[in-house]
Amino acid sequence: MKELDPKTIDLFEFLDSSTSPYHATRNIQKRLLSAGFTLLEEETGWDGTPGGYFFVRDGSIIAWYQDESKLANKGLGIIASHTDSPNLRLKPAVRGTAAGLAQFGVEVYGGPLLNSWLDRDLGISGRLVTRNSQSGFEEILVQINEPLAKIPQLAIHLNRNVNENGLVVNPHQHLRPIWDDLVSESANFIDLIATKNEIDPQTILSWDLMLHDVQPASLIGARRQWIASARIDNLISCYTAVNGFLKAIETGNLNWIPMICLFNHEEVGSTSAAGAGSNLLPSVANRVLRFQGNNKHSDLIAKSKLISADGAHATHPNYLEKHDMDHEVRMNEGIVIKRNSNERYATSAIGQAFIQLLCESNEIPYQYFSNRSDLACGSTIGPIASANLGIQTIDIGIAQLSMHSTRELCGIEDVSHLERLMTNFFSS
Ligand code: ZN
Repeated sequence: MKELDPKTIDLFEFLDSSTSPYHATRNIQKRLLSAGFTLLEEETGWDGTPGGYFFVRDGSIIAWYQDESKLANKGLGIIASHTDSPNLRLKPAVRGTAAGLAQFGVEVYGGPLLNSWLDRDLGISGRLVTRNSQSGFEEILVQINEPLAKIPQLAIHLNRNVNENGLVVNPHQHLRPIWDDLVSESANFIDLIATKNEIDPQTILSWDLMLHDVQPASLIGARRQWIASARIDNLISCYTAVNGFLKAIETGNLNWIPMICLFNHEEVGSTSAAGAGSNLLPSVANRVLRFQGNNKHSDLIAKSKLISADGAHATHPNYLEKHDMDHEVRMNEGIVIKRNSNERYATSAIGQAFIQLLCESNEIPYQYFSNRSDLACGSTIGPIASANLGIQTIDIGIAQLSMHSTRELCGIEDVSHLERLMTNFFSS
């Protein structure tokens, strides 16, 4: 087995420990704090003092850096991506039993491949809101990274035509995990979570809890050239955005006011107080640009640029008919520039040319994605952020297979392609 290099270990730790958007945000927060950034409260804002700063809002995080002399008159160079992934989430009441087994219901968050959640060893993570005698209540992140639950498939003997007809999973009926036998009358899932996290269950008021596959990320393939992991979409874009942002600031070679904005709720359409459809990015952009001397806000917006990074579909060898073969996309073959005439992706010809020049000058390979013309195209935060801000936006990503499965696949080389692109974007 190939030894993992320190960079891959660091990436895998980020992927494995960011089991909910709240954990992704906390992990990014830790990286920013250790790089000397300051966490600000949105209520108090920012007084324009140079340095690195960030806000956190409900699973989203936005960070920027201002250097008093060099960056005057500059626009914003923004990289945006998302912290959430499709998964299964616990409902407000967690109870249920059937056939001598303890169960609970889940709600489907976003558009996961439901079959990929069957027969997996499932852990649980997210946040609990607990009673606090001083402030009324407080938020606690919890994570149980061990196999607690499972959604068992129906045996083929009881569903003889499943391989011919395809698996149909009713999310209300067939996705109820089992987690204990009914040996004890008092089996209570929330008690279990409280005990595992050393919290008094009586203090728990509410939760945003979700399931995750506990299998850690690994390198696979004959040359261990692919990453198999949960949440590749879109934690790899978040990881490379943070690294590229911090590296560019460290080198001091900046041609924009650098900013990263990593949003929650992309998988459910971005319409929320913290999503890409909210005022989060426009309000922070306004706060930052207000301290740019006598420059007009509209002039600075016109000078700004946004890269929206999200997973891209690699061409699937078993389903070539689902792809436009004039735009074949391969793992480990570079940055995918996404185009769609109907603005499902925000990239224009100008934006495409910008990325191509950036790739060429840094010897980063690139390729194009265009959907089959007879299939509906997916979308991402690029068009939403672009419409909210009026900033030229380019949608890119790295190629992956099994998108929205609990275990996705992408190329290890593309992680460094994306990180190099992001680092060099801020000085371009
Ligand atoms: Zn995505």
